[in-house]
Amino acid sequence: MLRLFNTLTKKVEEFKPLNPPVVNMYACGPTVYDYQHIGHMRRYVGDDILIRALEFNGFKVKQAMNITNVGHLVSDSDTGEDKMEKGARKFGMSVWDIAKKFEKQFFNSMDALNISRPDILMHAADYIQEQIVFIQILEQKGFAYKIEDGIYFDTSKVPNYTKLSGQNVDELKAGARIEMVKGKKHLTDFALWKFSYPNGRPFDLAKDTSLSRRQMEWASPYGLGFPGWHIECSTMAIKGLDTETLDIHTGGIDHISIHHTNEIAQSESATGKEFVKYWVHHNFLHVDGNKMSKSTGNIWTVEDVIKKGFDPLALRYLYLQTHYRQEMNFTWDSLEAAQVAYKRLIEEVAKLRDPKVGCAEYEEKFLEAINDDLNTAKALSVVWEMIKSDQPDSAKAESLLKMDQVLGLDFDSAKQKKKTIKIVVPAEVQLLIEERNGLRKQGSYTQADHVRNKIKKLGYNIKDTEKGVQIEKIDIVPEN
Ligand code: AMP
Ligand code: ZN
Repeated sequence: MLRLFNTLTKKVEEFKPLNPPVVNMYACGPTVYDYQHIGHMRRYVGDDILIRALEFNGFKVKQAMNITNVGHLVSDSDTGEDKMEKGARKFGMSVWDIAKKFEKQFFNSMDALNISRPDILMHAADYIQEQIVFIQILEQKGFAYKIEDGIYFDTSKVPNYTKLSGQNVDELKAGARIEMVKGKKHLTDFALWKFSYPNGRPFDLAKDTSLSRRQMEWASPYGLGFPGWHIECSTMAIKGLDTETLDIHTGGIDHISIHHTNEIAQSESATGKEFVKYWVHHNFLHVDGNKMSKSTGNIWTVEDVIKKGFDPLALRYLYLQTHYRQEMNFTWDSLEAAQVAYKRLIEEVAKLRDPKVGCAEYEEKFLEAINDDLNTAKALSVVWEMIKSDQPDSAKAESLLKMDQVLGLDFDSAKQKKKTIKIVVPAEVQLLIEERNGLRKQGSYTQADHVRNKIKKLGYNIKDTEKGVQIEKIDIVPEN
Protein backbone atom coordinates (compact mmCIF):
# COMPACT_ATOMS: atom_id res chain seq x y z
CA MET A 1 0.00 0.00 0.00
CA LEU A 2 1.34 3.40 -1.00
CA ARG A 3 1.45 5.89 1.83
CA LEU A 4 1.85 9.63 1.19
CA PHE A 5 2.32 12.68 3.37
CA ASN A 6 -0.75 14.87 2.90
CA THR A 7 -0.14 18.56 3.61
CA LEU A 8 -3.84 18.97 4.32
CA THR A 9 -3.98 16.49 7.20
CA LYS A 10 -0.27 16.83 8.04
CA LYS A 11 -0.06 13.05 8.26
CA VAL A 12 1.30 10.17 6.23
CA GLU A 13 -1.83 8.47 4.91
CA GLU A 14 -2.67 5.38 2.93
CA PHE A 15 -3.40 6.52 -0.62
CA LYS A 16 -6.91 5.68 -1.86
CA PRO A 17 -8.17 7.38 -5.02
CA LEU A 18 -11.84 8.21 -5.52
CA ASN A 19 -12.28 5.95 -8.55
CA PRO A 20 -9.56 3.33 -8.61
CA PRO A 21 -7.57 2.45 -10.59
CA VAL A 22 -7.76 5.99 -12.05
CA VAL A 23 -5.82 8.74 -10.27
CA ASN A 24 -6.53 12.34 -11.24
CA MET A 25 -3.50 14.47 -10.56
CA TYR A 26 -2.80 18.14 -11.21
CA ALA A 27 0.64 19.76 -11.09
CA CYS A 28 1.22 23.51 -11.05
CA GLY A 29 3.51 24.00 -14.03
CA PRO A 30 6.16 26.60 -14.75
CA THR A 31 5.74 30.32 -15.34
CA VAL A 32 7.55 30.61 -18.64
CA TYR A 33 9.24 33.99 -18.21
CA ASP A 34 12.86 32.88 -17.67
CA TYR A 35 15.07 29.77 -17.61
CA GLN A 36 13.91 26.81 -15.54
CA HIS A 37 16.83 25.84 -13.31
CA ILE A 38 17.80 22.63 -11.53
CA GLY A 39 15.82 23.78 -8.47
CA HIS A 40 12.62 23.89 -10.50
CA MET A 41 13.50 20.57 -12.14
CA ARG A 42 13.93 18.80 -8.79
CA ARG A 43 10.20 19.30 -8.29
CA TYR A 44 9.21 17.78 -11.59
CA VAL A 45 11.44 14.76 -11.01
CA GLY A 46 9.63 14.44 -7.66
CA ASP A 47 6.25 14.45 -9.43
CA ASP A 48 7.56 11.94 -11.95
CA ILE A 49 8.59 9.56 -9.15
CA LEU A 50 5.13 9.93 -7.61
CA ILE A 51 3.46 9.05 -10.93
CA ARG A 52 5.77 6.08 -11.53
CA ALA A 53 5.23 4.84 -7.97
CA LEU A 54 1.46 5.04 -8.44
CA GLU A 55 1.69 3.11 -11.70
CA PHE A 56 4.01 0.56 -10.10
CA ASN A 57 1.23 0.01 -7.57
CA GLY A 58 -1.27 -0.65 -10.35
CA PHE A 59 -2.96 2.76 -10.62
CA LYS A 60 -3.61 4.57 -13.91
CA VAL A 61 -2.54 8.18 -13.55
CA LYS A 62 -4.10 11.00 -15.54
CA GLN A 63 -1.91 14.05 -15.07
CA ALA A 64 -2.81 17.60 -16.05
CA MET A 65 -0.27 20.40 -15.94
CA ASN A 66 -0.62 24.08 -16.69
CA ILE A 67 1.81 26.44 -18.30
CA THR A 68 1.47 29.88 -16.71
CA ASN A 69 1.84 32.41 -19.49
CA VAL A 70 -0.15 35.25 -17.96
CA GLY A 71 -1.16 36.81 -14.66
CA HIS A 72 1.56 35.58 -12.28
CA LEU A 73 2.69 38.76 -10.56
CA VAL A 74 6.12 39.36 -9.07
CA SER A 75 4.56 39.81 -5.62
CA ASP A 76 2.13 37.41 -3.99
CA SER A 77 0.09 40.34 -2.67
CA ASP A 78 -1.42 41.14 -6.10
CA THR A 79 0.92 44.05 -6.65
CA GLY A 80 3.97 44.44 -8.86
CA GLU A 81 4.58 43.57 -12.43
CA ASP A 82 3.40 40.49 -14.31
CA LYS A 83 6.37 38.11 -14.48
CA MET A 84 5.73 37.57 -18.19
CA GLU A 85 5.90 41.28 -19.01
CA LYS A 86 9.04 41.61 -16.88
CA GLY A 87 10.67 38.67 -18.69
CA ALA A 88 9.72 40.09 -22.08
CA ARG A 89 11.51 43.34 -21.25
CA LYS A 90 14.58 41.53 -19.91
CA PHE A 91 15.02 39.44 -23.04
CA GLY A 92 13.84 42.13 -25.49
CA MET A 93 11.15 39.89 -26.94
CA SER A 94 7.34 39.86 -26.97
CA VAL A 95 5.61 38.05 -24.11
CA TRP A 96 4.35 35.44 -26.56
CA ASP A 97 7.86 34.77 -27.82
CA ILE A 98 9.43 34.39 -24.40
CA ALA A 99 6.54 32.10 -23.41
CA LYS A 100 7.44 29.86 -26.36
CA LYS A 101 11.18 30.08 -25.76
CA PHE A 102 11.01 29.07 -22.10
CA GLU A 103 8.35 26.42 -22.54
CA LYS A 104 10.69 24.77 -25.02
CA GLN A 105 13.60 25.05 -22.58
CA PHE A 106 11.41 23.53 -19.85
CA PHE A 107 10.45 20.51 -21.96
CA ASN A 108 14.04 20.00 -23.11
CA SER A 109 15.01 19.78 -19.44
CA MET A 110 12.07 17.45 -18.73
CA ASP A 111 13.12 15.12 -21.57
CA ALA A 112 16.78 15.14 -20.55
CA LEU A 113 15.77 14.10 -17.03
CA ASN A 114 13.55 11.31 -18.37
CA ILE A 115 10.39 12.85 -16.90
CA SER A 116 7.22 11.62 -18.57
CA ARG A 117 5.20 14.38 -20.22
CA PRO A 118 1.81 15.28 -18.72
CA ASP A 119 -1.22 13.66 -20.36
CA ILE A 120 -2.98 17.00 -20.49
CA LEU A 121 -1.07 20.25 -20.99
CA MET A 122 -2.96 23.52 -20.67
CA HIS A 123 -1.82 27.09 -21.30
CA ALA A 124 -3.46 29.71 -19.09
CA ALA A 125 -3.94 32.19 -21.94
CA ASP A 126 -5.98 29.59 -23.88
CA TYR A 127 -8.57 29.36 -21.11
CA ILE A 128 -9.47 33.00 -20.48
CA GLN A 129 -13.20 32.51 -21.18
CA GLU A 130 -13.38 29.53 -18.81
CA GLN A 131 -11.67 31.58 -16.11
CA ILE A 132 -14.17 34.42 -16.62
CA VAL A 133 -17.06 31.94 -16.25
CA PHE A 134 -15.47 30.62 -13.02
CA ILE A 135 -15.24 34.18 -11.67
CA GLN A 136 -18.89 34.78 -12.59
CA ILE A 137 -19.94 31.72 -10.58
CA LEU A 138 -18.02 33.04 -7.59
CA GLU A 139 -19.64 36.43 -8.06
CA GLN A 140 -23.14 34.91 -8.24
CA LYS A 141 -22.48 32.99 -5.04
CA GLY A 142 -21.41 36.17 -3.26
CA PHE A 143 -17.67 35.50 -2.96
CA ALA A 144 -16.41 38.30 -5.24
CA TYR A 145 -16.34 42.09 -5.01
CA LYS A 146 -15.16 44.85 -7.28
CA ILE A 147 -12.62 47.54 -6.43
CA GLU A 148 -10.65 50.02 -8.52
CA ASP A 149 -7.90 47.43 -9.11
CA GLY A 150 -10.06 44.49 -10.16
CA ILE A 151 -12.41 41.76 -8.98
CA TYR A 152 -11.35 40.30 -5.64
CA PHE A 153 -12.20 37.16 -3.71
CA ASP A 154 -13.60 37.69 -0.21
CA THR A 155 -11.69 35.25 1.98
CA SER A 156 -13.74 36.12 5.09
CA LYS A 157 -16.63 34.17 3.53
CA VAL A 158 -14.66 30.92 3.59
CA PRO A 159 -14.76 28.86 6.76
CA ASN A 160 -11.34 27.52 7.63
CA TYR A 161 -9.59 29.50 4.86
CA THR A 162 -6.11 28.56 6.13
CA LYS A 163 -6.75 24.83 6.56
CA LEU A 164 -3.94 23.86 4.20
CA SER A 165 -1.16 25.84 5.86
CA GLY A 166 -2.54 25.48 9.35
CA GLN A 167 -1.70 29.14 10.02
CA ASN A 168 -4.24 31.26 11.83
CA VAL A 169 -5.32 34.48 10.18
CA ASP A 170 -3.99 36.61 13.03
CA GLU A 171 -0.56 35.05 12.56
CA LEU A 172 -0.79 35.87 8.86
CA LYS A 173 -1.69 39.47 9.60
CA ALA A 174 1.19 39.88 12.02
CA GLY A 175 3.71 38.48 9.55
CA ALA A 176 2.40 40.16 6.43
CA ARG A 177 3.98 43.02 4.58
CA ILE A 178 1.90 46.18 4.82
CA GLU A 179 1.67 46.31 1.03
CA MET A 180 -2.07 46.18 0.46
CA VAL A 181 -4.09 46.91 -2.65
CA LYS A 182 -6.32 49.95 -2.05
CA GLY A 183 -9.90 48.94 -1.30
CA LYS A 184 -9.17 45.30 -0.52
CA LYS A 185 -11.43 44.27 2.38
CA HIS A 186 -9.17 41.76 4.09
CA LEU A 187 -5.46 41.16 4.04
CA THR A 188 -5.87 37.67 2.58
CA ASP A 189 -8.35 38.64 -0.19
CA PHE A 190 -6.86 38.11 -3.64
CA ALA A 191 -7.39 39.12 -7.25
CA LEU A 192 -9.58 37.03 -9.53
CA TRP A 193 -9.41 39.54 -12.37
CA LYS A 194 -7.03 42.51 -12.53
CA PHE A 195 -7.95 45.58 -14.55
CA SER A 196 -5.58 47.00 -17.12
CA TYR A 197 -6.98 50.46 -16.24
CA PRO A 198 -8.56 51.59 -12.95
CA ASN A 199 -12.14 50.40 -12.58
CA GLY A 200 -11.89 48.47 -15.84
CA ARG A 201 -13.29 51.57 -17.53
CA PRO A 202 -14.11 51.28 -21.19
CA PHE A 203 -11.69 53.26 -23.29
CA ASP A 204 -10.46 53.70 -26.78
CA LEU A 205 -7.57 51.31 -27.25
CA ALA A 206 -6.26 53.31 -30.18
CA LYS A 207 -5.76 56.32 -27.92
CA ASP A 208 -3.50 54.51 -25.50
CA THR A 209 -0.04 54.74 -26.95
CA SER A 210 1.75 54.49 -23.60
CA LEU A 211 4.73 52.19 -23.48
CA SER A 212 3.47 50.62 -20.30
CA ARG A 213 0.44 49.17 -22.04
CA ARG A 214 0.12 45.48 -21.22
CA GLN A 215 0.84 43.01 -24.00
CA MET A 216 -1.62 40.49 -22.56
CA GLU A 217 -5.14 41.67 -21.80
CA TRP A 218 -8.65 40.55 -22.63
CA ALA A 219 -12.15 42.00 -22.67
CA SER A 220 -14.45 40.68 -19.94
CA PRO A 221 -17.86 41.58 -18.52
CA TYR A 222 -15.90 43.46 -15.82
CA GLY A 223 -13.62 45.40 -18.13
CA LEU A 224 -10.32 44.98 -19.94
CA GLY A 225 -7.79 43.05 -17.90
CA PHE A 226 -6.30 39.66 -17.14
CA PRO A 227 -6.95 36.78 -14.75
CA GLY A 228 -5.22 36.31 -11.42
CA TRP A 229 -2.70 33.51 -11.11
CA HIS A 230 -4.72 31.33 -8.71
CA ILE A 231 -7.91 31.23 -10.78
CA GLU A 232 -6.12 29.65 -13.73
CA CYS A 233 -5.16 26.59 -11.70
CA SER A 234 -8.64 26.06 -10.24
CA THR A 235 -10.22 26.44 -13.67
CA MET A 236 -7.79 24.26 -15.58
CA ALA A 237 -7.55 21.52 -12.95
CA ILE A 238 -11.33 21.05 -12.89
CA LYS A 239 -11.72 21.44 -16.64
CA GLY A 240 -8.66 19.42 -17.67
CA LEU A 241 -9.37 16.47 -15.41
CA ASP A 242 -13.15 16.77 -15.78
CA THR A 243 -13.79 16.40 -12.06
CA GLU A 244 -14.49 18.78 -9.19
CA THR A 245 -12.53 16.68 -6.71
CA LEU A 246 -8.97 15.73 -7.63
CA ASP A 247 -7.10 12.86 -6.07
CA ILE A 248 -3.71 14.61 -5.95
CA HIS A 249 -2.43 18.15 -6.41
CA THR A 250 1.30 18.92 -6.31
CA GLY A 251 3.54 21.97 -6.08
CA GLY A 252 6.51 23.55 -4.31
CA ILE A 253 6.30 24.17 -0.53
CA ASP A 254 6.16 27.92 -1.21
CA HIS A 255 2.72 27.39 -2.78
CA ILE A 256 1.09 26.17 0.41
CA SER A 257 0.21 29.37 2.22
CA ILE A 258 -1.03 31.50 -0.69
CA HIS A 259 -1.40 29.90 -4.12
CA HIS A 260 -2.84 26.56 -3.05
CA THR A 261 -4.76 28.04 -0.14
CA ASN A 262 -6.46 30.34 -2.65
CA GLU A 263 -7.07 27.55 -5.15
CA ILE A 264 -8.93 25.66 -2.40
CA ALA A 265 -10.94 28.74 -1.38
CA GLN A 266 -12.08 29.45 -4.95
CA SER A 267 -12.75 25.88 -6.01
CA GLU A 268 -14.64 24.79 -2.92
CA SER A 269 -16.69 28.01 -2.89
CA ALA A 270 -17.65 27.49 -6.54
CA THR A 271 -18.41 23.76 -6.46
CA GLY A 272 -19.42 23.14 -2.85
CA LYS A 273 -17.19 20.05 -2.96
CA GLU A 274 -13.82 19.16 -1.55
CA PHE A 275 -11.23 20.26 -4.14
CA VAL A 276 -8.31 17.91 -3.47
CA LYS A 277 -7.92 14.72 -1.43
CA TYR A 278 -4.09 14.59 -1.18
CA TRP A 279 -1.79 17.61 -1.35
CA VAL A 280 1.85 16.78 -2.11
CA HIS A 281 4.52 19.48 -1.72
CA HIS A 282 8.19 19.37 -2.66
CA ASN A 283 10.98 21.06 -0.76
CA PHE A 284 13.60 23.39 -2.24
CA LEU A 285 17.03 22.88 -3.74
CA HIS A 286 19.91 24.99 -2.42
CA VAL A 287 23.33 25.43 -3.99
CA ASP A 288 26.48 25.28 -1.89
CA GLY A 289 24.30 25.97 1.14
CA ASN A 290 22.66 29.09 -0.32
CA LYS A 291 19.33 29.74 -1.96
CA MET A 292 19.62 29.68 -5.71
CA SER A 293 19.42 33.27 -6.82
CA LYS A 294 20.41 35.40 -9.74
CA SER A 295 22.28 37.87 -7.56
CA THR A 296 24.69 35.23 -6.23
CA GLY A 297 25.04 33.80 -9.73
CA ASN A 298 24.48 30.24 -8.57
CA ILE A 299 21.62 29.39 -10.90
CA TRP A 300 22.35 26.30 -12.95
CA THR A 301 20.22 24.79 -15.64
CA VAL A 302 20.09 21.24 -17.01
CA GLU A 303 21.94 22.63 -20.07
CA ASP A 304 24.79 23.74 -17.77
CA VAL A 305 24.92 20.26 -16.27
CA ILE A 306 25.20 18.72 -19.74
CA LYS A 307 27.75 21.31 -20.90
CA LYS A 308 29.98 20.40 -17.98
CA GLY A 309 30.05 16.82 -19.28
CA PHE A 310 27.53 15.21 -16.93
CA ASP A 311 24.82 12.79 -17.89
CA PRO A 312 21.55 14.55 -16.92
CA LEU A 313 20.38 11.28 -15.37
CA ALA A 314 23.24 11.54 -12.89
CA LEU A 315 21.44 14.68 -11.73
CA ARG A 316 18.21 12.66 -11.50
CA TYR A 317 20.10 10.07 -9.43
CA LEU A 318 21.40 12.86 -7.19
CA TYR A 319 17.88 14.22 -6.61
CA LEU A 320 16.71 10.74 -5.58
CA GLN A 321 19.30 10.61 -2.81
CA THR A 322 17.29 13.17 -0.81
CA HIS A 323 13.70 12.68 0.29
CA TYR A 324 11.38 15.07 -1.56
CA ARG A 325 10.18 16.73 1.66
CA GLN A 326 13.71 17.59 2.75
CA GLU A 327 15.70 20.56 1.62
CA MET A 328 18.49 19.44 -0.68
CA ASN A 329 21.92 20.99 -1.11
CA PHE A 330 23.49 20.82 -4.56
CA THR A 331 27.25 20.89 -5.09
CA TRP A 332 29.24 19.95 -8.20
CA ASP A 333 31.17 17.46 -6.06
CA SER A 334 27.97 15.70 -5.11
CA LEU A 335 26.99 15.52 -8.78
CA GLU A 336 30.37 14.01 -9.61
CA ALA A 337 29.86 11.33 -6.96
CA ALA A 338 26.33 10.70 -8.29
CA GLN A 339 27.72 10.24 -11.78
CA VAL A 340 30.20 7.64 -10.49
CA ALA A 341 27.41 5.75 -8.74
CA TYR A 342 25.16 5.99 -11.78
CA LYS A 343 27.92 4.66 -14.04
CA ARG A 344 28.32 1.69 -11.75
CA LEU A 345 24.59 0.92 -11.91
CA ILE A 346 24.66 1.07 -15.71
CA GLU A 347 27.53 -1.42 -15.70
CA GLU A 348 25.54 -3.75 -13.43
CA VAL A 349 22.52 -3.70 -15.74
CA ALA A 350 24.71 -4.58 -18.71
CA LYS A 351 25.48 -7.90 -16.97
CA LEU A 352 21.94 -9.14 -17.58
CA ARG A 353 21.80 -12.75 -18.88
CA ASP A 354 19.07 -15.40 -19.10
CA PRO A 355 17.31 -16.84 -17.12
CA LYS A 356 15.51 -13.70 -16.03
CA VAL A 357 14.87 -14.15 -12.33
CA GLY A 358 15.30 -11.19 -10.03
CA CYS A 359 16.16 -10.89 -6.34
CA ALA A 360 12.68 -11.04 -4.77
CA GLU A 361 13.83 -10.11 -1.27
CA TYR A 362 15.42 -6.86 -2.44
CA GLU A 363 12.55 -6.03 -4.77
CA GLU A 364 10.20 -6.29 -1.82
CA LYS A 365 12.35 -4.05 0.35
CA PHE A 366 12.61 -1.58 -2.51
CA LEU A 367 8.83 -1.36 -2.90
CA GLU A 368 8.45 -0.96 0.86
CA ALA A 369 10.77 2.07 0.76
CA ILE A 370 8.98 3.64 -2.21
CA ASN A 371 5.58 3.04 -0.65
CA ASP A 372 6.77 4.71 2.53
CA ASP A 373 6.04 8.27 1.30
CA LEU A 374 8.36 7.87 -1.71
CA ASN A 375 11.52 7.26 0.27
CA THR A 376 13.84 7.24 -2.75
CA ALA A 377 16.95 7.63 -0.58
CA LYS A 378 16.07 4.40 1.23
CA ALA A 379 15.17 2.73 -2.07
CA LEU A 380 18.63 3.56 -3.44
CA SER A 381 20.26 2.12 -0.36
CA VAL A 382 18.35 -1.13 -1.02
CA VAL A 383 19.69 -1.03 -4.59
CA TRP A 384 23.27 -0.82 -3.29
CA GLU A 385 22.67 -3.47 -0.66
CA MET A 386 21.56 -5.78 -3.46
CA ILE A 387 24.54 -4.91 -5.65
CA LYS A 388 26.95 -5.70 -2.84
CA SER A 389 25.14 -8.97 -2.05
CA ASP A 390 26.19 -12.37 -3.35
CA GLN A 391 23.16 -12.74 -5.63
CA PRO A 392 24.03 -13.68 -9.24
CA ASP A 393 24.87 -10.71 -11.47
CA SER A 394 22.08 -11.49 -13.88
CA ALA A 395 19.46 -11.57 -11.10
CA LYS A 396 20.69 -8.22 -9.83
CA ALA A 397 20.42 -6.78 -13.33
CA GLU A 398 16.90 -8.14 -13.70
CA SER A 399 15.82 -6.52 -10.42
CA LEU A 400 17.46 -3.24 -11.38
CA LEU A 401 15.36 -3.16 -14.54
CA LYS A 402 12.20 -3.67 -12.50
CA MET A 403 13.18 -1.02 -9.95
CA ASP A 404 13.85 1.37 -12.79
CA GLN A 405 10.14 1.51 -13.56
CA VAL A 406 10.07 3.80 -10.50
CA LEU A 407 13.57 5.28 -10.57
CA GLY A 408 13.43 6.28 -14.25
CA LEU A 409 17.21 6.06 -14.74
CA ASP A 410 16.92 4.62 -18.26
CA PHE A 411 18.42 1.24 -17.42
CA ASP A 412 16.76 -0.11 -20.53
CA SER A 413 19.33 1.66 -22.71
CA ALA A 414 22.02 0.18 -20.48
CA LYS A 415 20.57 -3.29 -21.03
CA GLN A 416 20.86 -2.78 -24.76
CA LYS A 417 24.41 -1.56 -24.14
CA LYS A 418 23.55 1.73 -25.77
CA LYS A 419 24.65 3.74 -22.80
CA THR A 420 28.12 4.57 -21.64
CA ILE A 421 28.90 7.13 -19.03
CA LYS A 422 32.09 9.08 -18.85
CA ILE A 423 33.49 10.11 -15.54
CA VAL A 424 33.66 13.85 -15.31
CA VAL A 425 37.15 14.79 -14.26
CA PRO A 426 37.72 18.08 -12.43
CA ALA A 427 39.72 20.68 -14.38
CA GLU A 428 42.65 20.35 -11.95
CA VAL A 429 42.94 16.61 -12.66
CA GLN A 430 42.49 17.16 -16.38
CA LEU A 431 45.47 19.54 -16.39
CA LEU A 432 47.63 17.02 -14.54
CA ILE A 433 46.66 14.30 -17.02
CA GLU A 434 47.76 16.53 -19.88
CA GLU A 435 50.99 17.35 -18.07
CA ARG A 436 51.65 13.63 -17.57
CA ASN A 437 50.92 12.86 -21.23
CA GLY A 438 53.42 15.56 -22.24
CA LEU A 439 56.09 14.16 -19.89
CA ARG A 440 55.57 10.63 -21.21
CA LYS A 441 55.91 11.83 -24.79
CA GLN A 442 59.25 13.40 -23.89
CA GLY A 443 60.33 10.15 -22.22
CA SER A 444 60.40 11.69 -18.71
CA TYR A 445 58.82 8.65 -17.05
CA THR A 446 59.95 9.33 -13.48
CA GLN A 447 58.39 12.77 -13.53
CA ALA A 448 55.29 11.33 -15.21
CA ASP A 449 54.92 8.84 -12.33
CA HIS A 450 55.28 11.67 -9.89
CA VAL A 451 52.32 13.43 -11.57
CA ARG A 452 50.35 10.16 -11.55
CA ASN A 453 50.74 10.08 -7.75
CA LYS A 454 49.46 13.62 -7.50
CA ILE A 455 46.41 12.56 -9.50
CA LYS A 456 45.90 9.59 -7.19
CA LYS A 457 45.93 11.86 -4.16
CA LEU A 458 43.06 13.76 -5.78
CA GLY A 459 41.08 10.51 -5.93
CA TYR A 460 41.69 9.28 -9.50
CA ASN A 461 43.46 6.24 -10.89
CA ILE A 462 45.09 6.27 -14.29
CA LYS A 463 45.38 3.24 -16.54
CA ASP A 464 47.38 3.27 -19.77
CA THR A 465 45.51 1.14 -22.29
CA GLU A 466 45.80 0.54 -26.02
CA LYS A 467 42.97 3.04 -26.53
CA GLY A 468 44.77 5.67 -24.49
CA VAL A 469 44.54 6.87 -20.91
CA GLN A 470 41.55 5.66 -18.85
CA ILE A 471 40.54 7.43 -15.70
CA GLU A 472 38.71 5.88 -12.74
CA LYS A 473 37.50 7.44 -9.55
CA ILE A 474 39.03 5.54 -6.64
CA ASP A 475 36.10 5.35 -4.23
CA ILE A 476 33.92 3.64 -6.78
CA VAL A 477 31.15 2.11 -4.62
CA PRO A 478 29.30 4.86 -2.83
CA GLU A 479 27.65 4.16 0.49
CA ASN A 480 24.69 5.98 -1.00
P1 AMP B 1 10.05 31.09 -10.13
O1 AMP B 1 10.09 30.69 -11.58
O2 AMP B 1 11.35 31.49 -9.60
O3 AMP B 1 8.94 32.03 -9.85
O4 AMP B 1 9.69 29.75 -9.34
C1 AMP B 1 8.53 29.06 -9.62
C2 AMP B 1 8.36 27.95 -8.64
O5 AMP B 1 9.41 27.01 -8.79
C3 AMP B 1 8.43 28.37 -7.20
O6 AMP B 1 7.20 28.83 -6.76
C4 AMP B 1 8.85 27.10 -6.52
O7 AMP B 1 7.75 26.26 -6.24
C5 AMP B 1 9.74 26.46 -7.55
N1 AMP B 1 11.15 26.78 -7.24
C6 AMP B 1 11.82 27.92 -7.45
N2 AMP B 1 13.09 27.85 -6.99
C7 AMP B 1 13.23 26.61 -6.50
C8 AMP B 1 14.32 25.90 -5.88
N3 AMP B 1 15.51 26.44 -5.70
N4 AMP B 1 14.08 24.62 -5.50
C9 AMP B 1 12.88 24.04 -5.70
N5 AMP B 1 11.83 24.66 -6.26
C10 AMP B 1 11.99 25.92 -6.66
ZN1 ZN C 1 -0.98 26.50 -9.67
